Amino acid sequence: MISPAQTLTLLAAIIMVGAIASLVWVSLAWAARVTPRASLLMAGANLASAASLALHALRGKLPDLLTYRLSDLLAVLSFALLGTAAQAVYNRHPPWRATAITAAAAGALLTLLPYDGDLRWPARVVNASCALLTLAAGTAVWRQLRAIDVRRTPARLALPLLLIGALMAARGLETFVNPGRTPDMRLPTPFNLAFLWAALVLTLVQNSTLAFLVLMRLIQRIERLLERDALTDTLNRRAFDCALADAHAWLKRGRGYALVMIDMDRFKQLNDTLGHAAGDAALRQMVRELQPCLREVDRFGRLGGEEFCVLLPDTDIAGAALVAERMRALVEAAPLRWLEQDWPLSASFGITEAERGDADGGTVMARADAAMYRAKGQGRNVVQP
Ligand code: GH3
Ligand code: MG
Ligand code: MG
Repeated sequence: MISPAQTLTLLAAIIMVGAIASLVWVSLAWAARVTPRASLLMAGANLASAASLALHALRGKLPDLLTYRLSDLLAVLSFALLGTAAQAVYNRHPPWRATAITAAAAGALLTLLPYDGDLRWPARVVNASCALLTLAAGTAVWRQLRAIDVRRTPARLALPLLLIGALMAARGLETFVNPGRTPDMRLPTPFNLAFLWAALVLTLVQNSTLAFLVLMRLIQRIERLLERDALTDTLNRRAFDCALADAHAWLKRGRGYALVMIDMDRFKQLNDTLGHAAGDAALRQMVRELQPCLREVDRFGRLGGEEFCVLLPDTDIAGAALVAERMRALVEAAPLRWLEQDWPLSASFGITEAERGDADGGTVMARADAAMYRAKGQGRNVVQP
């Protein structure tokens, strides 16, 4: 026999988890400033869920308008916020329109439907809309995760959301196979007991999963700051050296690579005439222009000042010459526009291919550097092997 105390205790546990989780998310949003948007949405989702369940548990003790209609409206709000929060971790602007339309439609139905007849209809509206909202969000998060970092944030982290969607769908379907019963979570039925246990576990799992994703997001952001050059967003010297060491390790296993060394021409003159800010703008402009020449696997690094290096995996000297010549022409074709005047830009390029005898990446880089100095010697704005 299932006693009413069991379902009430479980309800109380879920309410408590929701209330505590919403406090934790608010702290994360305000104090730690970690993905504040997603954290605030999660706080809202947990709070709305706790309030909805608390009102549901107080049926008969508070006015029906609060414990039935408002409780159901809060449930829909909670699931809409949950789905948006999960998508907001990796997307600053999560698609909210479809969610808002679904939630508004469910809200309108719940406002219009009578609550004094067959209570299974409002229950079907609540459970169907909550299932729809969560399944749609779960699918979107699944796709997002697959596109990010499959190793550290596998797509299966979207599973809790999908399971929550399935649980709500099951609760909606139960109203059909269990006719005559009032859809009331406090009733001591085997279905309610199983539903509440699943809801408790999934509330905990969903909150932990999202906290994990927020943490991973933070780690990825810190890693990016550590390896990027602040001015041009290319790899900094340390990160480029790491990429070069990796490429050189592959050389022994038969995968070659080429380097393109780039040094802007007469850059000191630009700085001295137009000022340092113009020099900075020229560096950013050059990087922006050259980026489209590169493949996903190529690495663009700033070695210091106005010197850059591009690492081209699986590329020989002929391929590097093609890429470098395209880059040279692009830099030459776009002067820096500064205070209504054009300042011509150009760069000198040294290219080389890694050879089996090269002890390390530094040896290859020294050869590319020497080639670049030959390009300077030839009058600049040329590519030299
Ligand atoms: P060359 O054609 O022989 O390469 O002449 P250059 O003037 O470009 O060469 P040099 O290496 O003598 O000068 C590089 C200049 O780049 C020195 C410095 O004023 C400038 N520079 C280095 N880092 C930065 C930076 O971050 N921003 C700006 N605006 N200028 C920088
Ligand atoms: Mg220079
Ligand atoms: Mg230089």
